[in-house]
Amino acid sequence: MEFVIASRNAHKKKELETILSESLGSVKLYSLDEVGIFGEIEEDGETFAQNALIKARAAAASGKPGIGDDSGLCVRALGGAPGVYSARYAGEHGDDAANNQKLQEELAGKSDRGAYFVSAVACVFPDGRELVVEGRTEGVIIKEPRGSGGFGYDPYFLYEPLGKTFSELTADEKNAVSHRGKAVRALAEKLAELG
Ligand code: IMP
Repeated sequence: MEFVIASRNAHKKKELETILSESLGSVKLYSLDEVGIFGEIEEDGETFAQNALIKARAAAASGKPGIGDDSGLCVRALGGAPGVYSARYAGEHGDDAANNQKLQEELAGKSDRGAYFVSAVACVFPDGRELVVEGRTEGVIIKEPRGSGGFGYDPYFLYEPLGKTFSELTADEKNAVSHRGKAVRALAEKLAELG
């Protein structure tokens, strides 16, 4: 099966290819650049699922099934923030240090530090059929960072069943329990059902 993934992140592409291949057999993923789609896709949805669909639809314009994903951190005491704004919580897109600093400031004095990561993954077929799945993983935002792996909010996200932050897990360990791992495996199952 062939798909176009609406992400320029080579790591995500490889990870998705591996997980989809486990359920679907041989899978080939193309990046947007490889199918001649250039320029930014505007992610202006209000939910993770909407943003995943926006990206998947853009990729499906290639003529092959498109896959899009969106993810972020939702903190209960902050009413679900940063949510779909996770990458640009402190203003600049992708500034992990500033985002984590803002998160700590917003949580100062709050007793409930419960949070969850969400990942939505959508697949859109050129004939218009659309699938969206979501994965969630619960955790707690700790005050001091731990670990050196991962990215984003990982050093502060304590995954209680293992007593480790996401930064303290290997890539395989994180994948086994993460929101993204769950969502991609759910998509693979749905695609396998379609045959
Ligand atoms: P995107 O889905 O790659 O656009 O992720 C949006 C933002 O959510 C990232 O920039 C991170 O700040 C945050 N995020 C999503 N998934 C993770 C994760 O697995 N660990 C840490 N941060 C994450």
